[in-house]
Amino acid sequence: ATPIAILVGTGRAAQLGILITGPEALEQAERIDTVVLDKTGTVTEGRMALAAVTVDGTSRDEALRVVGALEAHSEHPVARAIATARVGSAVVEEFRSRAGRGVTGTVDGVAVFAGRPAFATEQGAVVAPSLAAAIAAGEAHGTVVVAGWNGQATAVFAVADAVRADSAEVVASVRGLGVDVVLLTGDNASVAQAVAAEVGIDRVVAGVLPEGKVDEIARLQAAGHRVAMVGDGVNDAAALATADLGIAMGGGTDAAMHASDITLMREGLGQVDTALRVSRRTMRIIR
Ligand code: ADP
Ligand code: MG
Repeated sequence: ATPIAILVGTGRAAQLGILITGPEALEQAERIDTVVLDKTGTVTEGRMALAAVTVDGTSRDEALRVVGALEAHSEHPVARAIATARVGSAVVEEFRSRAGRGVTGTVDGVAVFAGRPAFATEQGAVVAPSLAAAIAAGEAHGTVVVAGWNGQATAVFAVADAVRADSAEVVASVRGLGVDVVLLTGDNASVAQAVAAEVGIDRVVAGVLPEGKVDEIARLQAAGHRVAMVGDGVNDAAALATADLGIAMGGGTDAAMHASDITLMREGLGQVDTALRVSRRTMRIIR
């Protein structure tokens, strides 16, 4: 039978907007010594805004029409930023999403891709020097999406996201529990370093694909750590399932929630700290 204290702890957590799947999750939470945080939509708000568009061989409006229509089918924060700025309309077919990489489909019958800079190369697209410069400039400040068609990269989108108001405070509080904090992201290293510096994280793993996130969790576990992963995206689902404790941001994707042991129903990162503290208090009562 489940000890009464765990039922009480689970109920208390639920009152605080922390949904726990079962009694084991609270026990796991108490043993965590490392918290791995996804960046986009976890440490940051995940409400990205389009900061700049650079084009080659097309117009800005045409790029926003074509790529905006394609990205309207994706739930990734970068996709929402581009889709919100879309111009006019277009017919999208054969849409396909590759988590942590990008999206493809036909737009008005033309094969189009949009994704991380490496995705353009994977798609066999030629990147003109002007666009390569826009990628470098964009990555110095934020997140970059490269899109193209007809064998060429045609547009570079720079998108920006704000750090959540409570992220720095929560990182400090979690570290105060004697727990290590790591930032783990598919985004580029310079934006990852900037976000990490802003919130007080000194361990950063950037530029990783979804399977790379799983590898990083497994590596920490192999080194003897008990790891909680906090994430929101489809790209985090496998890492959330691999971690000793998966924690999903409630505003994120269904895939992240289904892969997790805990879902945080309130805005912000504060409930990560609360969940760890409730679990410690609960297990102390039992012993
Ligand atoms: P994070 O780990 O920070 O949540 P992701 O792994 O989801 O980031 O994405 C990594 C990168 O892949 C993004 O910064 C973006 O460049 C690219 N990307 C992911 N999804 C899409 C999409 N739907 N459209 C365009 N680019 C995307
Ligand atoms: Mg994310």
